Amino acid sequence: MKKFFLPLLFSSLFSFAQNDDEVMLKKIYDFSLTNSKCYSWLDDLSNKVGQRLSGSEGAEKGVIYTKAELETLGLDRVFLQEVMVPKWVRGEKESAYILDGKQKTVVPICALGSSIATSKKGLTAEIIEVKSIEELRNLGENIVKGKIVFYNRPMEPTNIESFTSYGKCVDQRFYGAMEASKLGAVGTLVRSMNLRLDDFPHTGTQSYGDLPKEKYIPTAAISTNGAELLSKKLKSNPSLKFYFKMSCQTFDDVMSHNVIGEIKGSENPEKIMIVGGHLDSWDLADGSQDDGAGCVQGMTVLETFKKLNYKPKNTIRVVLFMNEENGGRGGMKYEELSKLNNENHIFALESDSGGFTPRGFSFECDENNFSKVLSWKTLFEPYLIHSFIKGHTGSDIHPLTSAKMVKVGLKPDSQRYFDYHHAANDTFDCVNKRELELGAATMTSIIYLFDKYGID
Ligand SMILES: [Zn+2]
Repeated sequence: MKKFFLPLLFSSLFSFAQNDDEVMLKKIYDFSLTNSKCYSWLDDLSNKVGQRLSGSEGAEKGVIYTKAELETLGLDRVFLQEVMVPKWVRGEKESAYILDGKQKTVVPICALGSSIATSKKGLTAEIIEVKSIEELRNLGENIVKGKIVFYNRPMEPTNIESFTSYGKCVDQRFYGAMEASKLGAVGTLVRSMNLRLDDFPHTGTQSYGDLPKEKYIPTAAISTNGAELLSKKLKSNPSLKFYFKMSCQTFDDVMSHNVIGEIKGSENPEKIMIVGGHLDSWDLADGSQDDGAGCVQGMTVLETFKKLNYKPKNTIRVVLFMNEENGGRGGMKYEELSKLNNENHIFALESDSGGFTPRGFSFECDENNFSKVLSWKTLFEPYLIHSFIKGHTGSDIHPLTSAKMVKVGLKPDSQRYFDYHHAANDTFDCVNKRELELGAATMTSIIYLFDKYGID
């Protein structure tokens, strides 16, 4: 009898639990798609607060706004963490043109974050086009000296995961000026990290590394259409000149904040699970995709638990990190304070790949926890969430270290992300309400499951 009964009992218990989870996930998705504040929060963050570059007035408005909204949710704790951040200011709108004989052709550029300005008159020099830093080094100082280096390696269109193509191109933007300066260049231009051809220059962070200050050279991004045109003109006239003018400036670091909201765990309050994105954006737009979306999705996770009256076993925190874009100081400060306070983080989820249709997650965890995730696959099937892979999760949660921890990155569809990334068109209208809310529900669901079943 025992032999007969026990498996039956277990299998019915299992399907009962499975049904419970199915019901809960349905509730989570229904709430997100019908009653959550996710999209209206993004509307406010984008259209009332606006751009939130670290150290700017906009960033502080973002801190005040999100803290006040978290305070309306009836959480156990809402607080700020002080963090010193860099303050770089773009100044006047940049101007640039190609000077081919007497013909001037205006092209769209923007300064890269932390670039120095040109002189007040602007900078005019011949251009040398390269596809990589390696090609530049092979050319050597004789050819590069006194010129503007133009990095023009496009993003590879054949990678279906567009972040792969970004990863293979972004060294031109990050190290381009430093490497060109070592060979005597007077400035650099980099093709925007964008898969499509358009007129938006895309900014982003760059580093002069340990170059002495007098070796810093101005560096800018040029739109993909501008890059194509410049490259074409260079083929017919290699000695044409390029002019650009920028007035950006770096000031002393200023005080800013990470914004945190928390629901205390009902069984294991000392075990902390965090979710969130970065509150700062670039200054050219309001950063609705990067990363307003991730912030409001993280806030929606806590809103959903409160509204569904779900009492998590572990402490759940939303963390809105400051300064991901040009320093990563918020993520580092969070980790530093967590060590100082002896906090035990068991889980961290970051959404920083845009508010597009969610496809799944990437994980940094051990095999036990990963196989647990795979056992939940069928629960996600109704929501078309199918991609469960190991890989990079998020740069704000990257500094967090703990002996036993699961890190997760939300993976939305990435086909359109680089149309907007760090450019003036990353505005509210490029985020779809349902796609954003589906992302929030997907995040809430994985947190619900890990909270319920624990970390191995
Ligand atoms: Zn981002």
